[in-house]
Amino acid sequence: MRNLVIAGNWKMNGSQTFAQEMREALDNAEFSERITTVVFPPFLAIHTMLGSDKFAVGAQNCYTEQSGAYTGEVSPELIADAGCQYVLVGHSERRTLLGETDQVVAKKVKLAVSAGLTPVLCVGETLDERESGNFKDVVEQQVVAGLKELSGDEVKQVVVAYEPVWAIGTGKTASADQAQEVHAHIRSVLNSAFDGAGDAISILYGGSVKSENAAELLGCADIDGGLIGGASLNSKEFITICRIAA
Ligand code: 13P
Repeated sequence: MRNLVIAGNWKMNGSQTFAQEMREALDNAEFSERITTVVFPPFLAIHTMLGSDKFAVGAQNCYTEQSGAYTGEVSPELIADAGCQYVLVGHSERRTLLGETDQVVAKKVKLAVSAGLTPVLCVGETLDERESGNFKDVVEQQVVAGLKELSGDEVKQVVVAYEPVWAIGTGKTASADQAQEVHAHIRSVLNSAFDGAGDAISILYGGSVKSENAAELLGCADIDGGLIGGASLNSKEFITICRIAA
């Protein structure tokens, strides 16, 4: 049975006041035991969110080394040491705006697993790639490249998030059929490239998920949860999505 995960990626949002309010709202919410709820606040708000028995906490990024003279960077080991359990790796905003390559992503995924974190490997095609028709190849390549440094056992510790770039922050979501098609493809790629690991790996959908479309998307056979951006900034909306998921 795969883990059902609802995760909120706050991106570069989340003042101290916002985090305190969100903490209170999530601590007071009732979550089904069938889902794992995770929040990804900005680094400076992580401490406010740690230590809840209602949800886990992750960082939105990590560096490609565990320690040393890398001013301004935060390593997977430090993220784990602070009490986080998860880290996002390869989000499309980092690939596009910060030039993160598949090679960098693979290194981060490897170090995250070594530090005991669960990396959430984000993949997804651009609008051009979708329209050119080769989106499944693009996503397949990102998945295989991102996991290539892991051993067979390590691969099973990863979560994958499919986030079509054209659906992120645009209000335009993939239809359930479009999302399911890619999720099924990712699962079969994971199964064939990593010795059956696909059946054990949770694959989340991300891209304009909100309470109105959550039921349809999360109802798909190969969608094991959601990575929520904008809608995770509203505690009521985020909690509603968690309820719909379970
Ligand atoms: P939106 O839900 O705002 O489209 O963002 C999705 C996302 O990028 C989550 O990582």
